Amino acid sequence: MRPALIPGSQVLRCDPHHLVVGTDPGVVVPDRPGLVALLDLVDGRRDVGTLTSLMHRHGHQGLDVAATVTELMAAGALVPAARTPPHPRVEVVALDRSARRLASLVTTAGRDAGWHLVHETSSILVLVSTGEPSRSQAELALEQQRPVLVVAAFADTVRVGPFGHLGRSPCLGCLDRTRTERQPVWPALVAQLEHPRRAARPSRADPGTTWRAIGTVLDDVALRAHGGRPSTHAATLTFRAGPGAPERHVVPLRDDCACQLLVSA
Ligand SMILES: [Zn+2]
Repeated sequence: MRPALIPGSQVLRCDPHHLVVGTDPGVVVPDRPGLVALLDLVDGRRDVGTLTSLMHRHGHQGLDVAATVTELMAAGALVPAARTPPHPRVEVVALDRSARRLASLVTTAGRDAGWHLVHETSSILVLVSTGEPSRSQAELALEQQRPVLVVAAFADTVRVGPFGHLGRSPCLGCLDRTRTERQPVWPALVAQLEHPRRAARPSRADPGTTWRAIGTVLDDVALRAHGGRPSTHAATLTFRAGPGAPERHVVPLRDDCACQLLVSA
């Protein structure tokens, strides 16, 4: 067992005879010789044996480290170090020149969140586009059984989702089939996205909108990687400036979509 302070907590002194660990609300513990040194040494990586040797090396033989750790754990001043979940393996691809900046922000945020950035077909694919994305890369990813999350920046909004995964959750093709019901010309428009006549102009989505969307990308990638259900499972979320929740649109699984035909093949 590797003890750690509660994340975000500090060790402060209440009075000459007591320390407080954390402030929310904090756990008061009686001070004793060597305790401050021990609390300086717990870091979630050292086990009790290592802590004991280090305390001896620093001249604090008088403190029973094992008993003190047990006492502080029971009081809630120390916790077992959380095991970090495996890093999601993710590839981020900008589908057009204007999307490179947003893709770069997603990549930087993902790296901070512990993503292992790779170029391999077994990873989660995050496709970033300006405007409606072309479909071919998402379709290819689906065929490769990769989970694929689409992030599209429009004039002043950012749409995240759907988080397609063959046989598990609806894909862009499912979204297209639903949209075709109210806009019959939609398939003809989507076909032209593969070879746009001119590059899309960059989105003007403000930083608050962009970062809220990126926050959802981070959450959803982590959930998908660790067996949870992302918020963009069978849905798109559209972020825009101002307070309030993103606009959510359900994307139903379509039996006539290629993703279902592939599953049954
Ligand atoms: Zn589909």
